[in-house]
Amino acid sequence: MVDIKSMSLKELENYIESLGEKRFRAKQIYEWMHVKLIEDFDEMTNISKSLRETLKENASLCTMKIKEVQTAEDGTQKFLFETYDGEFVESVKMVYKHGISVCISSQIGCRMGCTFCASTVGGLIRSLAAGEMLEQIYRIQRYTNERVHNVVVMGMGEPFDNYDELVKFLHMVSDENGLNISGRNLTVSTCGLCDKIREFAEEGFTCTLALSLHASNQATRERLMPIAKMYSFDEVLSACDYYFEKTGRRVTFEYSMADGINDSDEDAENLYRAVGKKNCHINLIPINPVRENGYKESEGQRIAAFKNKLEKYGINVTIRREMGRGIDAACGQLRKRYKDV
Ligand code: SAH
Repeated sequence: MVDIKSMSLKELENYIESLGEKRFRAKQIYEWMHVKLIEDFDEMTNISKSLRETLKENASLCTMKIKEVQTAEDGTQKFLFETYDGEFVESVKMVYKHGISVCISSQIGCRMGCTFCASTVGGLIRSLAAGEMLEQIYRIQRYTNERVHNVVVMGMGEPFDNYDELVKFLHMVSDENGLNISGRNLTVSTCGLCDKIREFAEEGFTCTLALSLHASNQATRERLMPIAKMYSFDEVLSACDYYFEKTGRRVTFEYSMADGINDSDEDAENLYRAVGKKNCHINLIPINPVRENGYKESEGQRIAAFKNKLEKYGINVTIRREMGRGIDAACGQLRKRYKDV
């Protein structure tokens, strides 16, 4: 089956033409998929029955089914989706003052091996197509009847390990013929694939880059994240500098705090030395304990002290609002209940 949801308008026009139809039909079909967010070819009421039948036989809308929705007291909702091939991915909808934000997955599983992360436990199953990344947003928007303002690619998977589909997805989600979400409202989070960060800096997007730093030095980063053995602490920071130079977009450093691992005053000082002079933002995240790994989250007071120290140095720091506690909100947790990975 041809995955038409992952096609740009141009590609769709060529495809529709190859079926012996007029090119303008493609625009109509594109709108059904990417603006009206339909789930079935029969919803395309301005398309002839015969073309709909041809499409049904040859093309796929690459839809996902909502398998489960968990709602937390703060309004955060976690969605478990079933893919066409019986796999599961997760997305999270969060409600902020400035609007609805959706966190989507870029892969089923992950092969980066971060020791604190649930998504990586069973390795990588496969990468998602651009259309499947879009589909998570489309289904959530349809289910909740609320317009999505922000998208963060921060769910399961490493987006830069699925680079081409990610780039395609970002073009499509910001396309005026689609959801038209401004690049400034898009964030991509990476564990630090430096070559890809540099390549991404050249794409001309205005998205925010979030770098999962999680340590104030090479040794601790290596302990938490195997990718640190391939790209050193200094290399990853200089790739972020490059991103800032090219795009003018301030980089966010994510720092998940684990009790006794990376949360000391010394860590805060080292972190200041490493990134303090950069135009950046640090997002502290209490590590979400996952059964398999034995990490404990830093205590609230420790996190507050760490934050204060960084702020005294003039760094822009936030503590990620603990959204969705009580639901399986850590990446990959909900999926693991369905799939024995
Ligand atoms: N592969 C991307 C996106 C992963 S998930 C990346 O590495 O950035 C988004 C963020 O949540 C990352 O910073 C990731 O390191 C962090 N994360 C994953 N599991 C976590 C956990 N159990 N507790 C706290 N943060 C976690």
